[in-house]
Amino acid sequence: MKKLFYIDYPQEHFEDQLHRYRCAYCKIETTVINGKLEGHLASCPYRINLSATGFQASKQAASVDAVGHDADDFD
Ligand SMILES: [Zn+2]
Repeated sequence: MKKLFYIDYPQEHFEDQLHRYRCAYCKIETTVINGKLEGHLASCPYRINLSATGFQASKQAASVDAVGHDADDFD
């Protein structure tokens, strides 16, 4: 299954900033990540894990229009 947004990564508060969150792994702010796999650092375990399981971060934007046609390639 392809996703348009990647928001199921572990998040944590910034210290002393209750309304700001960041990825618990790579420490990038959620507003910077903006739901995109590319928003995480290349070294982020969350990004690496998804990339390793078949998600192509660099192709995500370009493949949006094709979603549905080849959806069976992914469980
Ligand atoms: Zn991350």
